[in-house]
Amino acid sequence: MCSEIRRILLTSATVIVSTIYSFYVLQYPSSSCYLVVLAFATAKNGHLIILPLYIEDKTILTKFTNRGVVYGLRFIKAVASAGAVTPALALRLIRCYLRPLASSEGRAAFDKKKKASWDNIYFLYSELGFCSENDDNLWQIACAVKLVHSHTKQPPRDLKFAPIEVNTFIQHCGFVHLSIPEIRHPKKHRGIDPLQFCELCWRQPLSGRKLCGHHAPSDPLTFENDKRTAAARYKEGLRQKELLEKTINQILTRETIKFHESNFQDQMLFPKQDIAAWLAERRPAVWLALGCGQYDLTDENAIKILLDFLHNPEGLPVQAKALYSTINIHIQAHPALIWPMLVRAEGWYQSRELMTKKRGGKRLGAGRPKEVKT
Ligand SMILES: [Zn+2]
Repeated sequence: MCSEIRRILLTSATVIVSTIYSFYVLQYPSSSCYLVVLAFATAKNGHLIILPLYIEDKTILTKFTNRGVVYGLRFIKAVASAGAVTPALALRLIRCYLRPLASSEGRAAFDKKKKASWDNIYFLYSELGFCSENDDNLWQIACAVKLVHSHTKQPPRDLKFAPIEVNTFIQHCGFVHLSIPEIRHPKKHRGIDPLQFCELCWRQPLSGRKLCGHHAPSDPLTFENDKRTAAARYKEGLRQKELLEKTINQILTRETIKFHESNFQDQMLFPKQDIAAWLAERRPAVWLALGCGQYDLTDENAIKILLDFLHNPEGLPVQAKALYSTINIHIQAHPALIWPMLVRAEGWYQSRELMTKKRGGKRLGAGRPKEVKT
């Protein structure tokens, strides 16, 4: 009985505080709700509650600059601590604390009828990402939704479905009657998937890992003398990851809209002819980074030159070398498959340039492009 009363009181307090909070944020978006949040978070036994949103407050503060999003996430942490986080509860909390912060376009994404499931919460993140091209506030809300999706479990919840660029690619191939399942895997290596990518770049991840040979700092297959460089690349990649995902999202949004507006006539997918012109127009950052390779590139050798540049197994451990070589041979036999890799590489080079500009450093692409560290 006592626990029932506590549950009712806690639920009532949650509703009251969230109503005040939503009103406060909407009316005074720039003012601080910190004390309200802190008062609620310390209400239980006078101590900070142990929370099932497994993320440190300082990480939230580092990751998000939008105060409304920071407070929203801290509210979600506090409220979620009252019990196990089910998809239904997570969706309710996301709608209650993050939806009020969104633009009308963003709210429309929240309001679409969705069955409460972890996959649907991730799809909400993707939809918000699509709408956020010129809206940094909405992008932060999208990232907060993704955080609730992943960090309500320890270790963080993995995505079991294909990344967005692969889904977009397969969908567009369908429009031009190219069946990807038929050509996706090398015939003698059905376990190898050329459409899998390191989460920090465009390369194939090492077997059983989420990272490629360039970004896996502690992989036993990495050369001993290269470990420090790989660790540095890994840290740099983590800092870039969010901007990389945003940039990929923006490229996909632009190209998808263009493709549909052209009534499916736009050459969105990798072409068979005039490849250099296509790269210069559609993948300008990769084209720039290609440097001298631009002059040698023809329609016949384009795939080989691109793979030598982007997916070169030189310097990698033996097993990774074999994996990369198998994939490169397969892509050369089916050039269409290079499209998702090029989208990710373009996103990587563009986001790296944005980061360099923010730091006031040397512009990427200036000087000798081949020296850019990945
Ligand atoms: Zn990588």
